[in-house]
Amino acid sequence: MTDLIVTLDGPAGTGKSTVSKAVADRLGLPRLDTGAFYRAAGLAALRAGVDLDDDRAVADVVAGKVFDQEEGRMYLDGEDVSAEIRGQPATAASSLVSAHPDVRGLLVVFQREWVARHENRAVVEGRDIGSVVFPHATLKIYLDARPEVRAQRRAAQTGLDRAEVLDELSDRDRRDSTRNASPLIVPDGAIVIDTSDMTVVEVVDVIVDLARRVAA
Ligand code: C5P
Repeated sequence: MTDLIVTLDGPAGTGKSTVSKAVADRLGLPRLDTGAFYRAAGLAALRAGVDLDDDRAVADVVAGKVFDQEEGRMYLDGEDVSAEIRGQPATAASSLVSAHPDVRGLLVVFQREWVARHENRAVVEGRDIGSVVFPHATLKIYLDARPEVRAQRRAAQTGLDRAEVLDELSDRDRRDSTRNASPLIVPDGAIVIDTSDMTVVEVVDVIVDLARRVAA
């Protein structure tokens, strides 16, 4: 079978997870959530008690672990850490450790290996997928939305206060797009979709349609 890699990048709150799950279902492809790898790396570093600002120390921890994901569940050395990586400590840690080049280098290798094990046919979501991990993907999508809309969606999902969510999102956005190692950018050749005024179904329809056309 020919390769079919669909990448979805963009900041938090643009609907990446929901959209990528639905697109993967409709295309009959597995989905890889790379944010979960960074979250699991943050969790592993927290548990090991290493300095989260120390690239080498965190990379040493990450290098000794097995990262896997199946059916949307994240496994660290075989342990299902899906719930724990969504907590505040792992969320904050993921943002810090994702700034480190050595840590990113390892996780990018793990992500490519995962896709290779799935016959190079997958929907992959993250922040650097179309730019760094799979620059030759079949189809690259960049999802965006106005900051207030993104904060509103996150607040609805988590039950947290909207103003607080907006602050936290803006902080993570700034760190993600200004870091030296693989900053969040619109990848070369990516199609940008502003989801602010679209429903999930509309966004999914557009992407599935594009994927079917490029794969035909
Ligand atoms: O997408 P999610 O919010 O789960 O990602 C958690 C963190 O992991 C992000 O804030 C970002 O710092 C980092 N990340 C990254 N590169 C990716 C995916 C996530 O740097 N491909």
